[in-house]
Amino acid sequence: MAEKIVALKVDVDTHAGTRDGVPILLEDMARFAVSATFYFSLGPDNSGKAIRRIFTRKGFLKKMLRTRAPSAYGLKTMLYGTLLPAPMIGASFPDLLRETERSGHEVGIHCWDHVKWHDYLPWFPKHLTAMELGRAGSLFEEILGHRAETTAAPGWTVSPDSLEVQDAMGLSYCSDGRGTHPFYPVMDGRRFRTLQIPTTMPTADEILGENGVSPENLHEYYLAQIREGLNVLTIHAELEGGIIRSSFVRLLERFRGEGIRCITLGEAAHQVAQVPACQLVMGEIAGRAGKVAIQGEPVP
Ligand SMILES: [Zn+2]
Repeated sequence: MAEKIVALKVDVDTHAGTRDGVPILLEDMARFAVSATFYFSLGPDNSGKAIRRIFTRKGFLKKMLRTRAPSAYGLKTMLYGTLLPAPMIGASFPDLLRETERSGHEVGIHCWDHVKWHDYLPWFPKHLTAMELGRAGSLFEEILGHRAETTAAPGWTVSPDSLEVQDAMGLSYCSDGRGTHPFYPVMDGRRFRTLQIPTTMPTADEILGENGVSPENLHEYYLAQIREGLNVLTIHAELEGGIIRSSFVRLLERFRGEGIRCITLGEAAHQVAQVPACQLVMGEIAGRAGKVAIQGEPVP
């Protein structure tokens, strides 16, 4: 029987999630000797502006209530960029980024401004897309002393321009979308050369509260989903490093019990062979408001 492997991807979206959630995840992962890839948001935390999604995206309010976002993110985070000034994330916690890397994890770029990218990327002129990733890349290099090898798009939001900018950055791979196996993306008829390692499993906020999935049995749901070969699980510093910490610890316990090996996405990228080119399209998935990048049909 082929081995079951889980590549762990950690999205760090907010100032509070960096400050509070990342140290918790580092502690819990160290306990289980597990390594992951942490994608940091490096620029301003404008989470308060995300509140306008309640009015512009169907399903967002329902999701906010279902996942109790206010208790996950805290009231202050919900006001950043509106009533409170947006704090700068990377500049506030350079030692935490370095500590994450020193602890044996891989560190990558999530974004400069999460809310801006997630809400407006399709309307960005190309130079703005390049500027957002460029600013994040410069600060990353300043903090860690080397260039980033990988990026992961906020809210799984991509455009042909963002894929082109990523190609120009000379990255080893990216993890921008949802899908089944690693591939080279083709979007709007344009082919790109940076390997994509898609997230294969749903995120906790997409499934909690649906079909009887609760924080108490979330680990059972995930275990039933894991297939032989490579699986990619995205967790959030704000959730698995916060209000559903105990669910994640139970999952790590079960991984250990069942001999399921956890690796970084970089390790997964090194192991791939025979990578197809596939369509990458923006589409809808269950449990998430708005559109996300989804791996589509193979392209000959
Ligand atoms: Zn994110």
